[in-house]
Amino acid sequence: MARRKKIYEGKAKTLFEGPEPGTIVQYFKDDATAFNAEKRDVIEGKGVLNNMLSEYFMTGLTNIGVPNHFIRRMNMREQLVRACEIIPLEIIVRNFAAGSISKRLGIEEGTQLPRPVIEYCYKDDALGDPLVSEEHIAAFGWATQQDMDDIVSLALRVNDFLSGVMYGVGIKLVDFKIEVGRVYDGDFQRLIVADEISPDSCRLWDVETGQKLDKDVFRRDLGSLTDAYSEVAKRLGVMPKGAVPMKPTLIN
Ligand code: UDP
Repeated sequence: MARRKKIYEGKAKTLFEGPEPGTIVQYFKDDATAFNAEKRDVIEGKGVLNNMLSEYFMTGLTNIGVPNHFIRRMNMREQLVRACEIIPLEIIVRNFAAGSISKRLGIEEGTQLPRPVIEYCYKDDALGDPLVSEEHIAAFGWATQQDMDDIVSLALRVNDFLSGVMYGVGIKLVDFKIEVGRVYDGDFQRLIVADEISPDSCRLWDVETGQKLDKDVFRRDLGSLTDAYSEVAKRLGVMPKGAVPMKPTLIN
């Protein structure tokens, strides 16, 4: 059987050429990394959970009209997505202080921020994805002013959607990261949400107990990562306990 062409191998996913032009297959691996890959492990089942959860969130975004790359899930570890030119930025939205902003600005973890705060990091592993300002983004041509307006609008819409969905199942959305890519439709170009949305890229805390249900469980050695991600999936009805994973319905 002919092997599919590998396009890119990242820390948590491998990308293959898709079956039709303009499509890509995203394969979710079980590899977990943190602190710019200084800490690494293989966590059985993580890839399956992230594949299902990213499908769930992207489908929800499609249903409320937030453009994203998701086309369909192919199997337990793979999904078909639209190819796009990734803008080399990690777009972070924060509702509560945690992680790097707490360290950088001395804000106690868990403090509610006066409003959602958006930060940008330049995607470059060798540099450790440094924080950059809009001034850097414009000066170095990573995105135009129009792109930045669209990115802010996408980021805030994703934030409202995800915050609401998570709050509905007793989970606080502390912060998250998205990536955005450019697609061309004839003469027009637009930006869409790409990469993945999963507990690998969000901070999720139980509303009642404050228990962490995200990658900090791995970063900070707080217990079983699959238990944490399974709990998120179970609450969302993505993977009911002991049942075959439920398929989210796409509204047309
Ligand atoms: N994040 C991510 N990938 C990165 C950096 C951050 O998905 O390369 C997510 C991270 O999981 C958290 C949010 O972005 O939900 C904010 O991360 P922060 O800057 O606090 O980073 P950290 O504490 O991991 O250094």
